[in-house]
Parts: sequence; C-alpha cells; structure tokens
Amino acid sequence: AGYVVGLTGGIGSGKTTVANLFHDLDIQSVDADLVAREVVMPGEPALMAITAHFGQSILQQDGQLDRAALRAKIFVDAAEKHWLNQLLHPLIRQRMLEKLAGCTSEYALLIAPLLLENKLNTYTDRVLIVDVPAELQLSRTIQRDGVSAEQVQNILSSQISRPERLHLADDVLLNTVPVSQLQPQVQQLHRRYQQFAKEKLA
Ligand code: ATP
Repeated sequence: AGYVVGLTGGIGSGKTTVANLFHDLDIQSVDADLVAREVVMPGEPALMAITAHFGQSILQQDGQLDRAALRAKIFVDAAEKHWLNQLLHPLIRQRMLEKLAGCTSEYALLIAPLLLENKLNTYTDRVLIVDVPAELQLSRTIQRDGVSAEQVQNILSSQISRPERLHLADDVLLNTVPVSQLQPQVQQLHRRYQQFAKEKLA
C-alpha cells in the first residue's frame, strides 16, 4: 500500500477492536508487536545473534526465545539493552516496511502501541489515535487480562501521556461507545483515507 495510517493508543484503548472494523472494510494491517516477535523466531538470524551473545540459557527447551530470561538480562544492564535494541530495531523496521509494501489494500494500517514513543510515525502518512479516558483503559484492561490495577498503571506510566498523544494525532476515534456503535466513525475515517490515498497516488 502506498498510503499508511498509523493506529495507536494506550494499553487497552481498543486498537485491535478498531483494526478489526477496518478489516471488515478489506483494509489490511501490519502489527508492530507481531513483527517484533517474528524477527526472533527460531531460524531467524536475530535469534542466532542473541544466542551467540547471551548464551544458550536465553533459549527455552523448545528452542524459542525465553523472553523472561532476556528481559532479566537487559533489565539490570543498560549496555546489554542498548546492544539488543541496536540489533532488533533495524530488523523490525525493515520487516515492518516490507510487510506494509506488500499490503494490497487501498491503504494499510500500522498498528503499534508505541508508534509515537518509538517514532514509527516517520513511516506513516497519518496518525489515528484510539482514545479513551484512563478509567476506561484501566477497567477494560483489567477485565481482559485479569491483571491488577497497579500492573496496568505501571504500563500506563511507561507510555506517553494522553494529552501528549492527542497532540500528535491527525485523527481521533473516541472509543467510549459500545463496539456496535463504532462503525459510523470508522466508515467516515475510511472514506477520508481512501481519498487521501488516491490523492497521494495521483
Ligand atoms: P493492547 O494495547 O493492550 O493490546 P488494544 O488497544 O488493542 O490493547 P483492545 O484489545 O482492542 O485494546 O481492547 C481492550 C479491551 O476492551 C478488550 O477486551 C475489548 O474487547 C474491550 N473493548 C474495546 N473497545 C470497546 C468498546 N467500545 N466497548 C466495550 N469494550 C471494548
């Protein structure tokens, strides 16, 4: 796709829910979190580099990356964290861009919780924020994941603040209504993006 809309929002804001409504309109998407997992799958060069660097103890019995073990290593050592980011970020970026280029829909979505934090909006034509007040973010995430308010609060404070995020938005979808009532808003954005994509191509 020649036109890319970045879809972001805080934890539990409804990115996946909204992306599914765009899928219903035949719009394809690339999920940055999934790409980040893909590049460290068994057989990938990045996993070999990580194993060579940290040792076999970083692998699970089944040969998959032991994410908890890796997190523990980089949590206590900023230099190791830097090493890992230097390795992974370019690979993730490259794979993400390949996938976006392979999307055949009129435009494509790049779904990324940390779109703005990681400056992935460099690769998007437009930024759509799924916005909800913090109370709803908390209650929906607690209900979905069965986690504590404190755990969600910790993740919330690692992400940019709601005002900062909204400041960087081109479009905002307020996700406070039931899912069944979101379609009109999505339709309206869809028509706008179709138009922008066409204008960009022309
Ligand atoms: P994360 O960044 O944590 O992956 P997300 O932004 O993709 O989250 P979703 O998983 O889409 O968020 O939504 C969070 C939870 O809230 C889900 O359980 C979802 O079903 C629910 N939810 C989303 N939108 C609505 C809505 N409009 N009304 C009620 N529940 C909703």
